[in-house]
Amino acid sequence: MNPVVALVGRPNVGKSTLFNRLTRTNDALVADMPGVTRDRKYGEGRIGDRAYIVVDTGGISGNEDGIDAAMAGQSLQAIEEADVVLFLVDARAGLNPADEMIADHLRRLNKAAWVVVNKTDGMDPDVAMVDFHGLGLQGPLPIAAAHGRGIRSLIEVTMADY
Ligand code: GDP
Ligand code: MG
Repeated sequence: MNPVVALVGRPNVGKSTLFNRLTRTNDALVADMPGVTRDRKYGEGRIGDRAYIVVDTGGISGNEDGIDAAMAGQSLQAIEEADVVLFLVDARAGLNPADEMIADHLRRLNKAAWVVVNKTDGMDPDVAMVDFHGLGLQGPLPIAAAHGRGIRSLIEVTMADY
């Protein structure tokens, strides 16, 4: 059975762009409008010898009424189903209170959860990641989903145990 990889994080951090990159499709709707992907979306992908199943989610805004509401529904289910959780954050936006809330939840799980810093194009990756070392999860790993930067390494590192 191929590992299941869930993409979670705030709206607009680039989850659907990464989904498309990992599955080489445009099936996930990518838009500038936050919260467009309302349901979980599944895709199959392969990079090199590594085959996997990816789950895109609509995102957790932090405006939901408390942690239970925020993590309920499709994001929580996607996390439960996953072997590996990729928690995307936005290098340009920096660390956000909603990011810290999501990290708090992920730290309590007995599951591999990685901080993935997206939108590092045009940035020094080390500078881009500075904000995100303290989240207490695995990583951070820098990528630019829209440009394919860091994707192969992301898959190799996060799926090494599968
Ligand atoms: P989602 O809401 O997390 O699924 O985010 P989307 O994948 O819909 O992307 C939100 C916006 O970020 C879109 O305008 C994307 O083009 C943009 N975006 C995604 N990845 C990158 C990236 O690597 N670099 C930059 N500069 N923009 C990106
Ligand atoms: Mg999306």
